[in-house]
Amino acid sequence: MNTECLFCRIVAGEIPATRVHEDELIVAIRDIHPAAPVHLLLVPREHIESALDLTDLDARLVGRLVAVAANLARSAGIADGGYRLVVNAGVDGGQTVNHLHLHLLGGRAMQWPPG
Ligand code: AMP
Ligand code: ZN
Repeated sequence: MNTECLFCRIVAGEIPATRVHEDELIVAIRDIHPAAPVHLLLVPREHIESALDLTDLDARLVGRLVAVAANLARSAGIADGGYRLVVNAGVDGGQTVNHLHLHLLGGRAMQWPPG
């Protein structure tokens, strides 16, 4: 755990968040500033700075993130309408929290290209 990291502290329960899923690899929470009617963040328990740091050894984790997102989309009632998964990486990617996370967005039609 990185004691300076917001998402490590949320995973550890030191900072409150609304948890919608937990397993041995990830914790999913509601985004505090939702950009869509459904906006969840799937956060690995392990501190990985960004998508840039992922390797083949993380294949199980990445698969779990996408599969849990599908289950959460079903639970939230947005699976049939469709949803968007986003990983922002680095400054130009718009990453503001340097602990890898997958955004699950849905409940409205998304625009393309993204801003
Ligand atoms: P990113 O810009 O991809 O790094 O995404 C970071 C996300 O974390 C943003 O959508 C923020 O709204 C969200 N966020 C920041 N602080 C919190 C918090 N305390 N609880 C839940 N979500 C947060
Ligand atoms: Zn962290």
